[in-house]
Amino acid sequence: MAKRIIYEPSRTLMEFRLLPGLTTESSSTANISLKTPLVYSADKKNKHYLNIPIVAAAMQSVSGADMGIEMAKAGGVAFIFCSQSIESQAGMIRKIKTHKAGFVNPQTVTPDMKIRQMYEIREKTGYSTFPVVDENNIFLGLISKYDYDLGLHGEASVGERMISRDACEVGHDITDLNAANTKLLESHKSVLPILDQEGHLQSLVFRKDINDHLNNPSEMHDVKKRLVAVAAVNTHDYRERIKALVEAEVDVISVDSSDGYSEYLQETVLWTKEQYPDLPVIGGNIITAPAFRYLAEMGCAAVKVGMGGGSICITQEQKGTGRGLASSIIEVAEERDKYCQETGKYIPIVADGGVTSTKDITIALAMGADYVMMGRYFARMEESPTEKIVINNRVMKPYWGEGSARARDWLEKRYYQAKFVEGVEGFVEYAGRLRDNLEETLAKICSSMSTSGSANIQEFHENAELELISALSIREGKAHDIYIPGENQTVEVSQNISR
Ligand code: IMP
Repeated sequence: MAKRIIYEPSRTLMEFRLLPGLTTESSSTANISLKTPLVYSADKKNKHYLNIPIVAAAMQSVSGADMGIEMAKAGGVAFIFCSQSIESQAGMIRKIKTHKAGFVNPQTVTPDMKIRQMYEIREKTGYSTFPVVDENNIFLGLISKYDYDLGLHGEASVGERMISRDACEVGHDITDLNAANTKLLESHKSVLPILDQEGHLQSLVFRKDINDHLNNPSEMHDVKKRLVAVAAVNTHDYRERIKALVEAEVDVISVDSSDGYSEYLQETVLWTKEQYPDLPVIGGNIITAPAFRYLAEMGCAAVKVGMGGGSICITQEQKGTGRGLASSIIEVAEERDKYCQETGKYIPIVADGGVTSTKDITIALAMGADYVMMGRYFARMEESPTEKIVINNRVMKPYWGEGSARARDWLEKRYYQAKFVEGVEGFVEYAGRLRDNLEETLAKICSSMSTSGSANIQEFHENAELELISALSIREGKAHDIYIPGENQTVEVSQNISR
């Protein structure tokens, strides 16, 4: 017979509610910190933190470079998907890293170039201000759209129309955005070229970007003040892929497998740790205590938890494998805490697949997750890589699983001929910009943490009291026994009712 049969049904996040604890001044919503470790670090000054406990899933329909940039600006990260060519994925990482949080790696032009040629670059790139450099990248001046008219100056040279270096305000070796901002404000200019001591151009800082940056106090930076980038890899082409990702200066990688409790995952993690000892490796997905220990002992710096719960996932139906996410988090978090007591290593766990609403995020964090990964939530946003479409008068975006026929097409051509799919393809309602959605989500998380009397996620793990609820209490927890008109129902209100 089976080695083990558990008769207690596995539980989902939506079956639990949080009980209130004492709210204190330190746990009032304004004082709550959502900072959480992205990965384990032996170094006490762990440089890999998240400022919000949310990351975007490594999926074709979710996490491209734009999502990576916007998430890092908002204090999280997007795991850049690996079901694409190595060059394309490394290009996305490069785009995030060169975004540089206010310091722009500029497109340059040369003084002998015709204005007409420069205009073509402007049309192609969308940039309207160009630094002018010589063949050794020495800064010579600036040219912007106010300095020429295509009709009048098309055949003139850039050198004739540029503002020369002497008339430009420049900064030398500035790496701090506040310092660049001060210099810009004092100079009344809108753009500041940053040069090294020999006059080579390093970057440009635009006033409009500074304002954007200063409005993002949660922005995720590496030590060089560039945005943090995380990439997923598979257990097939990892050698070449990780090499290219490291060259693109990825900060953390995540070895992704629908079943992470495997020797294939171990081989990938061990190889990576041997080749790149300073590169933190996240592993997953797993749903049991022994699997957590297996991944922790092989050196995973964080572990993704969840199997069979994703909104596009049909693994449970197809293979009969999986578990309710709440049960998985509870078992793994307990093992993680035990492992930490034994070794002193705190390995963050990531709740992944089936986190559908803010209350799910809150319950997952309360149960012991350090952050959550979501796909559907982010697929709905402007910043996901898909196009908006209108279906039955509703604005939608496509969303598909990495194990669906659509995503597998890429994998199958390279590695294997899967005989069945584990994911579906569908549509999600367009939700607008990431920033607006996150703002509301984070406000709700802070409010729940405050209710439980927790000023930060560590305290939330220690303080949270959760209760399993009945089907009837779920019903009671929704609006009930009042008349609420349907979405497309016209409501005719009659004011004059005779008594
Ligand atoms: P969601 O947030 O509920 O949409 O779930 C997203 C998560 O589902 C991802 O982070 C993956 O762990 C998982 N996932 C992605 N694609 C598939 C698939 O095709 N089958 C099963 N699980 C998937």
